[in-house]
Amino acid sequence: MSLLTIGSVAFDALETPFGKTDKIIGGAATFITLSASYFTKQNNLVAVVGGDFPPEMISILVQHGVNTEGLQIRQDEKTFFWSGRYHNDMNTRDTVEVQLNVMENFDPIIPESYQNCQYLMLGNTAPAIQKTVIERLKNRPKLIMLDTMNFWMEIAMDDLLQVLPLVDVLTVNDEEARILTKEYSLVRAAAKIQEMGPKTVIIKKGEHGALLFHEDRIFFAPALPLEEVFDPTGAGDTFAGGFIGYLASTDDISFDNMKRAIIYGSAMASFCVEKFGAERIINLTADDIRKRVSEFVRLSAFGIEE
Ligand code: AMP
Repeated sequence: MSLLTIGSVAFDALETPFGKTDKIIGGAATFITLSASYFTKQNNLVAVVGGDFPPEMISILVQHGVNTEGLQIRQDEKTFFWSGRYHNDMNTRDTVEVQLNVMENFDPIIPESYQNCQYLMLGNTAPAIQKTVIERLKNRPKLIMLDTMNFWMEIAMDDLLQVLPLVDVLTVNDEEARILTKEYSLVRAAAKIQEMGPKTVIIKKGEHGALLFHEDRIFFAPALPLEEVFDPTGAGDTFAGGFIGYLASTDDISFDNMKRAIIYGSAMASFCVEKFGAERIINLTADDIRKRVSEFVRLSAFGIEE
């Protein structure tokens, strides 16, 4: 089934306890589409970059089967830029700088060939843009998933509250869930978010895994304990891409299949953090993913019958 993804395509500059990068390629939609490419062949991107964005990177997306017809290139403008610094635990980070550049007045034009997509991934970008995309689709997709972050909660909370009733799945991290709901308990936070619209809420807890709340049911997926974690940037997006890519490829949005999808998403995210930026998820094989998913299965199978 076809997937449509929107979100930032960006330059990132990162600082982690293990090193520092100059501008490297990042952006929510970059990580999402690369990750989803291992699951679905109908992988359509709507995003905007400036004339400074390297054509080689667009070629990498195309080589992964990403349809870039909806990627606007504004020759005279600059690509969105984000820089972040991670704390020693790597689970928390500060945004050092955001330059919206081309994203400031991004008009998400949906190519005709993308209409009728069944799965819609609204990756991190302004909530008003996320809402416009839903409004521009002639038919409602089978599943609409939205990812956002504290930055938008600070500057565009009203817009976010307007788009939430239109979506099926929200992914946020634990800190963002608490900001959005003013609840410390993640169970209460998820219940409040469900009242805001999305019936399914995924709360990402970095190296501590992810919680899936679906109507009145809960599932927990661990994160793989890794020897080396270089850079968590994009892990959340890579997770989202694996999750929705798996759902699109199986075309099953039941709770049981979402449980499988969350493990695939977590497996993809575990690759992402092993190298800086998107380097690791550019070079994966189906066998790498299969082995990683098996590690997840072994990690939490405890063999007790209910
Ligand atoms: P994640 O680590 O999964 O939360 O995503 C990090 C990615 O989000 C980076 O590659 C950034 O380019 C991108 N990003 C950071 N801030 C924003 C923002 N305000 N809007 C859209 N994308 C952003």
